[in-house]
Amino acid sequence: MPACPICASSQTVKNSCIHNGKQRFKCHDCRRQFVEQTTKKVIDQATRELIDRLLLERISLAGISRAAQVSEQWLQIYINEKYALVPRTLQVAAKKRGD
Ligand SMILES: [Zn+2]
Repeated sequence: MPACPICASSQTVKNSCIHNGKQRFKCHDCRRQFVEQTTKKVIDQATRELIDRLLLERISLAGISRAAQVSEQWLQIYINEKYALVPRTLQVAAKKRGD
C-alpha cells in the first residue's frame, strides 16, 4: 500500500476504484481518501543533491531544471522551501557574544 500523502502514514487500505481505473485508498490514521499518484514523479535525494550543487554554480533555473530533469515549477517550490529555512540558521550563527 502507498503511504498516505497527507499524514505519511503507512496505515492505508484499498477503498474503491474510481471511473478511470485508478485505485483509491483510505488512510486509517487521518481517515482521508486519496488516489495513488502514479504519474507524479518523486524527486529522489540524489537529484536534490545535484540541484543543490548546481544552485551554487549560479546557473539559471531553466538550466538547472533541464540538467536535473525536473520541472521549473517543482524547482521553484524546492528553492522557496530551501531558502525559507536558511535565514533562521544564519541569524543564530551570526550571533556573537561580547567578551
Ligand atoms: Zn493519513
